[in-house]
Parts: sequence; C-alpha cells; structure tokens
Amino acid sequence: MPAWMTAPQASQADLQNFPPPLLQQLSAIKAAALNDDYAYRQLAHLTENIGPRPTGSPQASAAADYVAAELRKLGLDVRLQQVTVPHWVRGAETAALIEYPAMVPNTTQKIVLTALGGSTSTPTDGLTADVVTVNTFEELQALGHDKVAGKIVLFNEPFDKQKAAAGFAFASYGEAVPYRAVGPKAAADLGAVAALVRSVGNADYRLPHTGMSFPAPIPAAAVTAEDADLIAHLSAQGKVRMHLTLTPQKLPDETSYNVIADLKGSEHPEQIVVVSGHLDSWDLGTGAIDDGAGVVIAMEAAEILQRLHLRPARTLRVIAWMDEETGGSGSKAYTAEYSSGFPHHVAAIESDSGAAHPLGFDVKAIPAAMDALHPVESVLQSIGATVLQPSTYSPGADIATMSDAGVPAFGIQQDGRTYFNYHHTAADTLDKVVPAELRENAAAMAVLAYALTNMKDPLPR
Ligand SMILES: [Zn+2]
Repeated sequence: MPAWMTAPQASQADLQNFPPPLLQQLSAIKAAALNDDYAYRQLAHLTENIGPRPTGSPQASAAADYVAAELRKLGLDVRLQQVTVPHWVRGAETAALIEYPAMVPNTTQKIVLTALGGSTSTPTDGLTADVVTVNTFEELQALGHDKVAGKIVLFNEPFDKQKAAAGFAFASYGEAVPYRAVGPKAAADLGAVAALVRSVGNADYRLPHTGMSFPAPIPAAAVTAEDADLIAHLSAQGKVRMHLTLTPQKLPDETSYNVIADLKGSEHPEQIVVVSGHLDSWDLGTGAIDDGAGVVIAMEAAEILQRLHLRPARTLRVIAWMDEETGGSGSKAYTAEYSSGFPHHVAAIESDSGAAHPLGFDVKAIPAAMDALHPVESVLQSIGATVLQPSTYSPGADIATMSDAGVPAFGIQQDGRTYFNYHHTAADTLDKVVPAELRENAAAMAVLAYALTNMKDPLPR
C-alpha cells in the first residue's frame, strides 16, 4: 500500500505530548460540548435579558457582574478588573435628500443611516449641505479643499460580496473598513462639514452598519448600501443636497470591568492559557454574534472541565473583555497589569468572528507550535474544525498585545460568509445563532484549551 493511503501515524513527540488518556479526555470534552446548551442559555441571558452592551452602558457593567457571578458558581477564582472606558450615546439620526436632479417639487427622499461610534453632533435641528461622492481616498485628495469645504462627503467603497461568498469575508471587510475608520478625519481635514460612509457589510436589507471611527471634528454616519447607490447615481446627474441630523453625545468616562476567572492548574498554576471573547457590543442589536458568542463559549470551556471533573494541569483563565469595540481599553488595562506575566501565558484564544460553524483556528505562532497541535486536529476532525491557518497578525484584537509579546495566539475561524450581513447592525440578535453551531464552537474552544493546558510540554514559542 502506498504511504499516502495509510492512516497518519502519531509521531513519538505526539505520543509524549498527548498520551492516550489525554486524547480520551479531549474526546470526552468534545462530546460534552456537543450535547449541552450551557453556552446558548448564557447567550440568551446576555442578549435578551441584559440586551445591548455598548461600552460605558449600565448593561455592559451588568453583563460583567452576571458573567462574574456565573463563573463563581462554577467554582472559579473570579476578579473584576476595573477599566476606565469611554461613554458615547446615540441620539437622533435622520437624513433626507432635499434637492437632486428631476426631483418632484415639494418632496424629499429619506436616507437610512446610523451614526458611527464617537461621532460628534450636528446642531439639534441638523445641517444642510451639498453632497460630494468619492470612491477612494485618492479621489477625495484629487478634489482638494476647494471642492470639499462646506460639503458632506460620501465614501462609496462597496463591500466585495463575491469574496465574502467565496469564504473571504474578512478580506472584503479589510478592504472597505478603512473608509469607516479614517474617512471622516480625511474629509474633515479638507473642510467637509460631515462625512458618510457606505455601510461595511454584505446584506441587502437597507440596514446601516455602525462601527468605530477615529476621532474627527465632524459628524459621521454609515448609510445603507442602497442609499449610497442612490446618492451616487443622483450625484452623477447633478447637484445633490442633504439635510442631516445626528445628535450623539460623548459623556464622561465610566468605570467598567474585564472579568478574569481562573481555574487553577494542578501542576503549573503559574502557567496560563487564556480563553476569551468580548462582552461589550454595539448598541443597535443585542450583540449575539459580536461577541456574546465568544464570551459564552469561553465560559463553557471552564464549565465542561468542572462538569467532567477534569482539573487542568496549567491554569485555564476565562476573560470576558470590556470595550473591544471602541478602543480596547479592557485589553490595555489587562496588559498594563499583567504584561510582566506574559512569558508565563503559554497561549491565548479569542473568539470574535461570530458563532457559525467552526472551520478551525487562525494561529499566530511559530511553525513548531502548529506541528505540535496535530493531535488536536484529529480530535476535532469529526466536526470539521481542523484548519490551522497561519496568521501574520494577532487573530484577536484583545489578545494582540500578548501575541505581540510572543504568546501563541489563536482565533476560532468560523464560516464567515454571512457574518457581515449582521455585523454591527440592529439584526445582530440571538436568532442568528444556530444552537448546533454554537455547540461546535464550544467544542473547538474547550478541546484546544484543554490540549494547551494539559499537553506535556508547553507550546513552543
Ligand atoms: Zn467583536
């Protein structure tokens, strides 16, 4: 029989690092995750009972208290780490085209939009200005100050739906999102009075997608893809004028919390494996896929070990991060306090790409670390979560400082084809999470985490 037709043989190193009893425990963890709805019940509480959890809101803090209490119930050592967070609240947000080619007299066209995080406010009764549409930063620069000053700039960079449908949704996001992030500042620098960006997302239900934008001194909003098309088409015919009202407010900073909960290691308690997701969400939906799902599957990793009476050899640390969405103050606070311990953080996992079927993991680690994890692939093969995709950057925003310090970093790679239909919209709600797929994610997180806490040698770095 040719070599490729035989089952792959476990190497000597695999057997030493993953002896048969450990592989049996990993299989038991997977089976437990696939047969339980702990994560889903927690997600239902976070999204439906607590609701939207924008940074600085009472719901965000209540969510931290809730997760801390649940992890205490499991017997973990729990701490609420204080984090000073920004607090921005949405206000009125309306817009209408009040002048455009061949307009029927005494009519307007409604524009559906939502303010970008951190946006400043228009006057209470709004502002009126001509709209200038550009597709790229180069087009904006070519227009220059004379043609931009006093105008509302629309950045009309479309989200590449074909890439997303083919499984490269994050590439589509990466191409379009710079306009949301730095477009308003670029427009303000040329004298614009407001900035609009085409929503970064791939559904066609006239939903605006919010998100963070770097501070700019002008109001900024995302318009739906449909309304971006409308404005672009009319602008190609002639002058388009808009009345725009956005009245969000930046309130004083608030105190909020990261939840940090340890299941102490029996042999190497000082060595830490982080499992995590972020607790804050945007305000429009209830933060089910972004990122309640990541928090609850990290919680379930600890819950399964307690349920099966499996004590990790290294410490399993569950972290529910605060403020991933508006500046990462939770990650910064953790880094400030714990970075001297990063050499003993043997790995960090974050799930922040939704709750759909897991394909495997994005990994920022040296090749030898990837090789050492082959036995984990065999355990996860039955659910298809076998991809170990090398990444050149941290696969999670909150674990980036650990990754930069050399801690092997993992992000669950979910099927992302529909993620950006709902991302940062009012439609990010519990019904978008398929219970069976959430269970697969819980299995992937728990199996990898226990492998990392209990493989004989810590992952090479
Ligand atoms: Zn997120």
